[in-house]
Amino acid sequence: MEKLGIIIIDEEHDSSYKSEATPKYNAKEIAQLIAKVNKCPLILGSATPDLTTFYRANNCDIKLLKLTKRANDSNLPDVNVVDLKLELANGNRSMLSMDLYNAIEENLKNKMQTILFLNRRGYSTFIMCRECGYTVKCPNCNISLTYHRFENVLKCHYCGHEENVVTKCPECGSDKIRYFGTGTQKLEQEINKLFPNASTIRMDVDTVTKKNSHEVILNKFRDENIDILIGTQMVVKGHHFPNVTLVGVITADSSLNIDDYRANERTFQILTQVARTSWKRK
Ligand SMILES: [Zn+2]
Ligand SMILES: [Zn+2]
Repeated sequence: MEKLGIIIIDEEHDSSYKSEATPKYNAKEIAQLIAKVNKCPLILGSATPDLTTFYRANNCDIKLLKLTKRANDSNLPDVNVVDLKLELANGNRSMLSMDLYNAIEENLKNKMQTILFLNRRGYSTFIMCRECGYTVKCPNCNISLTYHRFENVLKCHYCGHEENVVTKCPECGSDKIRYFGTGTQKLEQEINKLFPNASTIRMDVDTVTKKNSHEVILNKFRDENIDILIGTQMVVKGHHFPNVTLVGVITADSSLNIDDYRANERTFQILTQVARTSWKRK
């Protein structure tokens, strides 16, 4: 008997299909295999297909189907790139550019919603001794530990290793241990300081722990008309909020430096997707 069926996979969130559990697998590859074995069509859907898929589509290796209109026929928002080096030269030491600050203020005045995207969770993203240059790293993975303010611990985002907060340098004994780098926790604190009357909600792996709390946070953001949603790439997952007319990306180029040979491609995908969560202002 002939088997019929269609597998649809949203390629947009490609990286989330790489399983963290053992055995490790890539859901897209598995879907391709299942489709082949069962001789059924596979649809890969994405606004930003990865280069391999796009290359195959352009070479007629797979069929390219185009969606030429956005939902509700809306226009893509305008994108404005701000050079933070110039901001710093003009005396702005904040993590927000003046343009973004003003746009948030205007959005608050107009009772519209804002999403701020920063792809690093935690509070400070690295800890260093100013005396000898020692940085606190994970004993298992050799990557910088991130400071989590609410639990008051240092965490490895790779293997989950945790240790106590360091106040004295384990290398030279100096107390000039400083915390650098900005994660979503620090950004939220900064936003609450700059815009004390605005309501905020944060969404990252640390706030999304229970099953479905992902949906709970997004529903709360929409239903209670919370002013500002601050989050990691989780906020990008294909949601559309009609009141969101501003999306701010904090240090948009930082993901170019991650240790992944597809860092450029991933940055393009995530920035394209994050821009699309906003509606064009009228
Ligand atoms: Zn030291
Ligand atoms: Zn680790």
